[in-house]
Amino acid sequence: MRSESRLEEISDGKVYDVKDMVKADAGECDGCSACCHGVGDLFSLSPYDIYMISINEKVTFEDLLNDKIELITEEKISLPHLKMYGDEDKCSFLNEEDRCSIHSSRPGVCRLFPLGRVYEDNDLKYFLQTGACTKPKLNKIKVKKWIGISNYKENKKFVLEWYKLIKALRFRLKFVRDEEELREINGYLIDVFYKTSASTDEEFYDYFHSNLANAKSKLGIL
Ligand code: SF4
Ligand code: SF4
Repeated sequence: MRSESRLEEISDGKVYDVKDMVKADAGECDGCSACCHGVGDLFSLSPYDIYMISINEKVTFEDLLNDKIELITEEKISLPHLKMYGDEDKCSFLNEEDRCSIHSSRPGVCRLFPLGRVYEDNDLKYFLQTGACTKPKLNKIKVKKWIGISNYKENKKFVLEWYKLIKALRFRLKFVRDEEELREINGYLIDVFYKTSASTDEEFYDYFHSNLANAKSKLGIL
């Protein structure tokens, strides 16, 4: 979670709810792809991100690991991230025209940009990263419309639960030194949450929530 002072430095100082209007609409981006470069280690992909890409591109998690995503370990947790390529550090999903080839199934963090998430009091809100988008003028848009995700309520519930799980796991792993145990925990996390066979959003969320309690117990999280 970002601290308030850090947030103030990079935002307009406001926290937005989903029904608020915010100056975040970059429109069609007019050929720009600036925010699709050099972002590989900036954020991890959630199980929902991987599910969406897998369904829409008709690929498995293993297929994606070949050339589109990579596992990056941070604070002992290995999670998938977008893979970047070349001198320009370009996202693997940019096509020859420098457009996102998975626009309709792009990851949650990509959907939000230039908004970011604020986790506070078991809730999820948004902030505007001022100056992050290269467009000099952004238009006003309702936060929910900008995110454009189907079934926002269920998605938010998932995002919050996933955030809490990873946060708790980070704390728990601070005290784990055994490499074999860390490998097992990370392998379990990927197998259970990223390799689902869900083919609809409903199946995905059902699967996630029905496995959560068991996974917490297995991972040693209260
Ligand atoms: S997934 Fe698409 S929107 Fe996200 S960084 Fe890659 S090219 Fe850009
Ligand atoms: S920096 Fe702004 S204009 Fe450029 S691709 Fe990202 S959102 Fe679009």
